[in-house]
Amino acid sequence: MKELKGLKVELSRGEIKEEYVPGEVALRYIGGRGIGAYLYLKEKENEEEPIIIALGPLTGSPLPSTGRASLTTRSPLTGTILDSNIGGNFGTLLRRTGYSFLIIRGKASSPVYLLVTDKSVRIEDASNLWGLDTLTTSERIKEIYGKRLSVISIGPAGEKGVRFANIMEDGKRAFGRGGTGAILGEKKLKAIAVTGDKDIEIHDKERFSSAKYEIIRPLTTHPLTSKLLPELGTAGTMRVINSFKALGTKNFQEKHFPEAWKIGGEELKRRFLKGKSGCFGCPILCERVCEIDGRKTVGPEFETLWAFGANLFISDLRFIVDLNERANLLGLDTISLGGVLAFAMELKEKGIADLGVSFGETNGVFELTENIALKRGQGEILSLGVKEASKILGGEEFAMHVKGLELPAYDPRGSLGMGLGYATSNRGACHLRGGFSVSFEIYGVPKRIDRLASAGKGAHVARAQDIGAIVDSLIVCKFALLSTSLHHWARALNTLTGSDYTASDLQKIGERIFNLERLINRKLGFSSKDDSLPERIKREIPLDEMLKEYYEYRGWDEEGFPKEGKIKELFEGENLEWL
Ligand code: SF4
Repeated sequence: MKELKGLKVELSRGEIKEEYVPGEVALRYIGGRGIGAYLYLKEKENEEEPIIIALGPLTGSPLPSTGRASLTTRSPLTGTILDSNIGGNFGTLLRRTGYSFLIIRGKASSPVYLLVTDKSVRIEDASNLWGLDTLTTSERIKEIYGKRLSVISIGPAGEKGVRFANIMEDGKRAFGRGGTGAILGEKKLKAIAVTGDKDIEIHDKERFSSAKYEIIRPLTTHPLTSKLLPELGTAGTMRVINSFKALGTKNFQEKHFPEAWKIGGEELKRRFLKGKSGCFGCPILCERVCEIDGRKTVGPEFETLWAFGANLFISDLRFIVDLNERANLLGLDTISLGGVLAFAMELKEKGIADLGVSFGETNGVFELTENIALKRGQGEILSLGVKEASKILGGEEFAMHVKGLELPAYDPRGSLGMGLGYATSNRGACHLRGGFSVSFEIYGVPKRIDRLASAGKGAHVARAQDIGAIVDSLIVCKFALLSTSLHHWARALNTLTGSDYTASDLQKIGERIFNLERLINRKLGFSSKDDSLPERIKREIPLDEMLKEYYEYRGWDEEGFPKEGKIKELFEGENLEWL
């Protein structure tokens, strides 16, 4: 592959310079999450945390479901390495500036935003944007430079350093989970705006067209990507997950929500849906455009409907749609917000503390959310996330997190592979980094495996995580993987870039990336002791048994780290000195 051209921005000194990643590194780490981990390793010298935004080799191409950008940093919520990727238009427009990555270091002395176009790169004053919500920030910057711009920004939550603050594009798409927004806030970087007109080069146009068609065909004919997601969005899965008793309910005290049907995609469609939209060039269009009181809002998607619904024992759909909009404008991660709210409700239920919210009631939720975003009153304690909040307020036994990241919707007691995935994901309890076993265990895609059997889950989860790592590096939307396979994407990549990968080559690179993140986490202080689950779940599933098989399959020792032979196999000739 060709060398990658990017930018290094030193906010403390106001300096910007071009930076390059050699072609042989791009061959080994591909793009997105892989290049993010590689550059994090290279840039991490001291206490200051760099942010790396990296595109994939497919980003900005005419391939569907590939217009994404990845961000890597250290999570202020978990302390682990954190990667996150965003859809929308940001990745595509950044590609058109001619840059494949941005490294952002240092801290500005007053609020700024970064403007990157194909003609110039500037650091601009953002004093008049500080304090604004994420959508208004986008609109203000677009008023100056025009609508053909993508703006990612933080809201008040990121400015205040809430540990689960997100970075949002136009107040609707997120670099979600783990506090990406707090890192930007720490750097006093309110926003990044990008636009450009540069074309992406295609190595073999004819073969590329046929590879593209072979991807579009399953996307537009498979029932999941041509019917369920376009018609009902991700929320279309609510009733299925609930029926398998895999929907965390009432802070995971239960795994089935009797009123799940009231917060699913069908009801959302019937009551509020006014249209659908999606990321650049994607035929699936899973994004929900809702209308409330004459005003348009995007979402909520499955995880948010769960986080503010089943997890809080609330079935008021209107309330959930409103809270989703508010959280996005404030720049809060909706899964973590749902996690801390459910935790606060259980504190009240158990008589430990009263933060003004109770299961099943909407009263007090908006007020507490604002207090979290602005770090006011007891909201300041919850702004640390459930792990740290439980150390202060009590209730550690029902703080539902792994490595400090609040659990998403899928209850591992109904899908054992999800439990192993949460325990071993490099960024904490994450469905998307943990292998997304529900795809196999509940949907039977691409093949069905027994959701309640533990044998074989170690190998299965490890393989799925490696595929996830390469998919996040190419970068392809994970929903597209419901109807396509790595074979499709290997072919597309080869015809686009002139490379010569097989699907198994790509999976091996995914393994390298996953292991590199694991080694970075070791340096950051994590080990097998952190590969765990909240007590409430751990006592009901055979986690130790699955972990043993998982470590063995991965070639890791009992501490949960790659053995010498595995390191040699994956990293021969590389400089891993910092690790
Ligand atoms: S499936 Fe949804 S999230 Fe994925 S690329 Fe398409 S519109 Fe974006």
